[in-house]
Amino acid sequence: MEVDIGLSLLEKKVKSYNKNDWDIIYKAYKFADKYHKNQKRESGEAYITHPLAVACILANMHADTDTLCAGLLHDVIEDTKASYEEVEKEFNPTVAFLVDGVTKISKMTLLSSNELIAQNIRRIIVGIKKDARIVIIKLADRLHNMRTLNFKKTDRQNKIALETLEIYVPLAYYIGSYQIKNELENICFYYLKPDAYRDLEKKLKVIHDSSKKLLNKMVIDVKTKLKQEGIKSHIELQYKDVYSVHKKLITKATIENIHDLLCIKVIVKTVKECYLALMVIHSLYPPFTYKFKDYIVKPKTNMYQAIHTTVFSEGNLLVQFQIRTKEMERIAMYGLTSYWFKNKNMASIKMQKDLENNFQFFKSISELDSSIKDNIEFVKRAKQELFSKNIYVRTTQGEIIELPTGATPIDFAYKIHTDLGNTMIASIVNDQAVPFDYKLQNNDRVRIVTDSKVFVPKDDWLNKVVTTNARRKIMDFIKSHEEER
Ligand code: MN
Repeated sequence: MEVDIGLSLLEKKVKSYNKNDWDIIYKAYKFADKYHKNQKRESGEAYITHPLAVACILANMHADTDTLCAGLLHDVIEDTKASYEEVEKEFNPTVAFLVDGVTKISKMTLLSSNELIAQNIRRIIVGIKKDARIVIIKLADRLHNMRTLNFKKTDRQNKIALETLEIYVPLAYYIGSYQIKNELENICFYYLKPDAYRDLEKKLKVIHDSSKKLLNKMVIDVKTKLKQEGIKSHIELQYKDVYSVHKKLITKATIENIHDLLCIKVIVKTVKECYLALMVIHSLYPPFTYKFKDYIVKPKTNMYQAIHTTVFSEGNLLVQFQIRTKEMERIAMYGLTSYWFKNKNMASIKMQKDLENNFQFFKSISELDSSIKDNIEFVKRAKQELFSKNIYVRTTQGEIIELPTGATPIDFAYKIHTDLGNTMIASIVNDQAVPFDYKLQNNDRVRIVTDSKVFVPKDDWLNKVVTTNARRKIMDFIKSHEEER
């Protein structure tokens, strides 16, 4: 990308939603350009094209002015002679704080020692606790680096792709930023398994081409029927990413067994219209009953909302419909950063509050950070709990609870409430009693039976839990009751 093109693209994007602050953003560009003057990227391009591209990614999310400035300046403290104080003086304390936060997450994690890698990963994870914008800028930074990964040597490409899959993809998922998550995953897969990627891409194209006519007809039919019911809608085909299909193929035998390969997205105005649209769709096509999910009443742990239903179309082809409002659509794409679209001034405060109160992984991060001093141990546990594959189980009230793979009913109980863990005498999963070290599975419905007079946690429970939360609470209990026992 040429510098002029990047700059005018950024200007156009910013001015589309922020008319007043271009001067200060331009100043940040000038400042970064001056300091990066003689630096080149591995592609041979002027270095400034990179911060410009990062700022463009942020402008797509309608980022606030401080974030855009920090995006342009994100490499100046680390890579040039510019200092924290200078950034603070020329801009403001928030911009300096954000740049500093991004800088502390160093770039050279892959060649450093275990302790340094661990320290760095810890900074990334904990950065979100201080100000989620630090991690959002870092994600934009990584996204652009991934987009230009072809200029690196193969072994570096693989290492960077692996690190991205391990750390950045889950982070993007946790803050609900599906757009970034999906693009990152696809690029990683492309570099890690180029043959498998191309093979699957081809297969998907054949399937999409052969079903296009039918799907387009369904779009028109649903739209027409909704209109008759007085509901205005925006309907489009949604193609699955190569990587997400690849992931599904790990558990499903063949591509034909994936029920949401063909997907139609229906966007309406209100929540009520979502349910009306569901009725309309089910009246047109018989639903595949086991494939109905109401994420409006029970949002995912990253706040994703929609109704998913799979139906039989003509020729018994399975097609998934995703129904949601415009607002939910924005959350589905941008997650936490969707606040930038509607809350101009208070967005960053609202974002941080929402993160603390509603996003389940935030509590786990705080818990880990306050209970573990050693960096390597911290990262080990964080990987186990936050970055390994999670399972989703339900309470008897239907609330969805996210737990790491391998979690037991004890982990579940302590996640709900300390007292529930401390008084549990039996665990029942899907109406069957199970032992305390039973490994919970996706979709399990878990009931904990308690008796406050009879039972207390035993030492050997420590071997039956995987979450730090449960481990710490059991140790607390044992410690405080040591004399009595
Ligand atoms: Mn950078």
